[in-house]
Amino acid sequence: MREQGAYSKPIRSLEDAINRCQIQGMRLSRQRLFILELLWEAREHLSAREIYDRLNQQGKSIGHTSVYQNLEALSERGIIECVERCDGRLYGNISDSHSHVNCLDTDRIIDVCVELPEDLLKQIEEKTGVKITDYRIDFYGYKNSPENPNNCHDDESDPSGKVSLFFSEKEDISEV
Ligand SMILES: [Zn+2]
Repeated sequence: MREQGAYSKPIRSLEDAINRCQIQGMRLSRQRLFILELLWEAREHLSAREIYDRLNQQGKSIGHTSVYQNLEALSERGIIECVERCDGRLYGNISDSHSHVNCLDTDRIIDVCVELPEDLLKQIEEKTGVKITDYRIDFYGYKNSPENPNNCHDDESDPSGKVSLFFSEKEDISEV
């Protein structure tokens, strides 16, 4: 997002995630690699339980405790994302700042990258006296609502001109 220091290069691929582990001196056990591979393949937000189930379904045997411990270690070091929800934690592959569209029909979280215009950020800073260095926005809505304007896909280019939107590649996958 805003003026992010070059010291922490964002993780954009499984290879980046593996490199980050090595830079941070984390041991790359088979189990740890299984989890990273799964998260980068799935590109969803998954619970520890789902990660455990999927890996075991794929014949990659891994224990409950190992799943929990690895998820904890990876998220603590900012290599994967951890989302706290009232019904538990979810883990995702994108670790740097991004926003979420929470679909209330499917209970799914879609990653989006939203960049707010500078003047809006300035206004917020002036009102609060806080220098903003980062932000994440949570959107909520329904996919199957009859008023969902996305049901008719006319390209009205930038209706407000106020907010620039960049969807992550994950969005394409979740649309399928
Ligand atoms: Zn996310």
